[in-house]
Amino acid sequence: MDLYEYQGKQLFARYDIPVSRGEAVVTVDAAVAASDRIGYPVVIKAQVQVGGRGKAGGIKLAANADECREHSGNILGMDIKGHTVGLVWVESASDISKEYYASFTLDRSAKLHLGMLSAEGGVEIEQVADENPDAIAKIHVDPVDGLTGAQVRAWVAAAGLDPEATEGAIDILTKLWRCYVDADADLVEINPLILTPDGRVHALDAKVTLDDSSVFRHPEYEEYDETQVRDARETAAHERGLQYVGLDGYVGIIANGAGLAMSTVDIVSQVGGKPANFLDIGGGANADVMTGALEVINNDPDVNAIFINIFGGITKGEEVAKGIVAALDRVQIDSPIVIRLDGTNADEGRAILEPHLSGTLQLQPTMVDAARAVVDIAQSRGGK
Ligand code: GDP
Ligand code: MN
Repeated sequence: MDLYEYQGKQLFARYDIPVSRGEAVVTVDAAVAASDRIGYPVVIKAQVQVGGRGKAGGIKLAANADECREHSGNILGMDIKGHTVGLVWVESASDISKEYYASFTLDRSAKLHLGMLSAEGGVEIEQVADENPDAIAKIHVDPVDGLTGAQVRAWVAAAGLDPEATEGAIDILTKLWRCYVDADADLVEINPLILTPDGRVHALDAKVTLDDSSVFRHPEYEEYDETQVRDARETAAHERGLQYVGLDGYVGIIANGAGLAMSTVDIVSQVGGKPANFLDIGGGANADVMTGALEVINNDPDVNAIFINIFGGITKGEEVAKGIVAALDRVQIDSPIVIRLDGTNADEGRAILEPHLSGTLQLQPTMVDAARAVVDIAQSRGGK
């Protein structure tokens, strides 16, 4: 789960990482009242979970109440890369002499934690990695050993930060590491980490991703749950107990088993189509489950055709076929459906489907045939 900047900063503050004093507000009047308490100048920052807010006009400095009113009025309701701003964070403005970058994340292939530190912060780290990879000092941290003081010191030296930032950076990175581990985060990123003209090192931005599987250890994360930005399709699917991930294509996918669902996403892409989703209905492909799956997919306005890919195992072909037939009785489906049914008792299953086949419900003998057919149909119906 991804936190908003203000939530990330509040988390950082609990670990004693220096952040600016600020308040989260949802109206212009509240922004002005908060700024009066904080003291001018303030920075008004759009709270959306995308980077590059500054360039998009979502971050503005205000020297007085009039400017605060003007900027917060402009930013609230603004659209930033498809995200509407409903909340702004108002914080005491900082003077900046240098912008650095610092983060901890998982390096899954190395099976270690990865720390990255750069004297070139403020821009996207991907850009630094492309244009000047040597400007990023990396360290791997063993999860069992943890991060030692000597390691942090050597890391900061390797990054070539300004000498007056050394002690502050060591202090913040040590605390950031503690926060990353204790909070069960997958990512903690400070970009920019700033050096102020009076020599203080300070977190000016916060990007935090928490491990969803750790929520049972952190009852306090419930507060973040309410503010999560969710795909409406995913919410509907999860309410029906389906394993669903929304994608941005036009071929709706239903498969039994996560592995098969992933392979279905792959094959649809391979034959030139774009999957609208990953959906695993699991083992029991009965009428209720199939109905729920078809409803979720049918409600996705981007879907032009549906691919049901079933490989019978413990669940027999005829049970799945009966489930599909019953579901089609219950839901009015707007898109043509292509079915591939194989595995245990596939022939019996196909025989059950046979009488129901039509121009909008077809059966294909193999997975690749079905993928080609469904992509053809979807594209003839406008899928691009
Ligand atoms: P992002 O663009 O979405 O990552 O938003 P950031 O919070 O990182 O802010 C982008 C840029 O705005 C920073 O790199 C700074 O240059 C500038 N900025 C943000 N806060 C302040 C501030 O308090 N004072 C000044 N002078 N600049 C700021
Ligand atoms: Mn940033």
